[in-house]
Amino acid sequence: MATRQTLDELRGAVRGKGLRATPSRLAVFELLRQSDTPMSHGDVADRLANQAWDRATIYRNLTDLAEAGLVRRTDVGDHVWRFEAVTEEHAGAAHPHFVCTECNTVQCLPEIELAITSARTKSAKPPRAVKQRQVEVHVRGLCDACA
Ligand SMILES: [Zn+2]
Ligand SMILES: [Zn+2]
Repeated sequence: MATRQTLDELRGAVRGKGLRATPSRLAVFELLRQSDTPMSHGDVADRLANQAWDRATIYRNLTDLAEAGLVRRTDVGDHVWRFEAVTEEHAGAAHPHFVCTECNTVQCLPEIELAITSARTKSAKPPRAVKQRQVEVHVRGLCDACA
């Protein structure tokens, strides 16, 4: 779900994390906020290709935003970092991603929650990372276009 925010709000969010609100950083952040799917560094650089920023600057902005917690990095198993904005509806909690095994399209599945029920036995207790949703959940199959 894309959330439109004014540039002022984006600037405030970036500054609130102690980062300088440079034009390139705001553009990268805005692009991710408006995207419904996680974007790789290449995707972001392609979309901002009409701007004067080089790919290294864009990459640094992505990692800065990720370290500040405004953006989340996800690896759906192809060793490519994809970035997505942490929004209210994603609530900072990790949500599963659907990966098409044919065309490698990645989709967010924020409506699927990782349900953690209290285990009956001690040995079946999930690791802390699962409880804190610091895990990656990937669902694989064919997307609508490939099915
Ligand atoms: Zn597909
Ligand atoms: Zn996502």
